[in-house]
Amino acid sequence: MATANPEQTLMLLKPDALRHSLMGYVLTELSERHTGLCLAAAKVARLSRLLAEEHYAEHRQKVFFPSLLDYLAGRVHYPDEPRKRRLIALVFHGPDAIDRIRALAGPTSPAAARQERPGCIRALGTVVPVPDARGGVLCQRMENLLHSSANSADAEREVQLWFKPDEIPPLLRGYDTEVSDAHYYYKDGQLATAPVRGGACLAAPGDVAWKNDLAALRSLSQGQPASRSLGAVAAKYLLNQADEGDC
Ligand code: ATP
Ligand code: MG
Repeated sequence: MATANPEQTLMLLKPDALRHSLMGYVLTELSERHTGLCLAAAKVARLSRLLAEEHYAEHRQKVFFPSLLDYLAGRVHYPDEPRKRRLIALVFHGPDAIDRIRALAGPTSPAAARQERPGCIRALGTVVPVPDARGGVLCQRMENLLHSSANSADAEREVQLWFKPDEIPPLLRGYDTEVSDAHYYYKDGQLATAPVRGGACLAAPGDVAWKNDLAALRSLSQGQPASRSLGAVAAKYLLNQADEGDC
């Protein structure tokens, strides 16, 4: 796309958007015609434990985190249909992509969205009280239909958390890639540079990977600290695998 300031942003359609048949509405709101943004990548994924922990790391200690996980994992909207528990992950590319999608989404809380920004996407969401053990209200669950990256650092982290480079057309890749010159395998939270029975191959010589991922794998394989965790590198390679644990 010919533009002075192209950005990328990760958008997740959450289970309530699917359950309430709002996917078409949300995508129309975010169409190229409305936003000037270009769809760069898309996939259907079950939320794995690794992904959930990495994606919402900042909220791990919050009181609403367990209920947020139930929501994102699809247990709230598909209690009796586990096979329908999934998200749709999308990457949008274009000028001011992050702010444009955040503006169309609206405030985090659907109640605030209805008050402050009627007509925004999250105005169609729901705020649900979460009970505590004594029948009181522990917190609220904000069922707000979509996630979108909050700033450019989050966008880079999130796009590379959910997508491998080869899932994005080369001319729409927003971040540096590198060709691996080594093997890296993952199993049960451990990294290896030689094959492990039942392990997943994250990269082999000649594979194109995110430059930041390879830097992290190189450091971690030498016992050095890295700028991102092994889980953040591995999560996208394990997505939708039958034995990858639910969150
Ligand atoms: P998202 O990251 O999903 O796009 P956001 O950036 O607007 O939303 P965050 O602060 O990142 O808001 O919160 C992530 C998610 O956690 C929210 O979408 C919401 O579902 C939930 N959440 C955030 N704050 C609260 C809260 N105070 N009470 C209950 N749930 C919350
Ligand atoms: Mg956020």
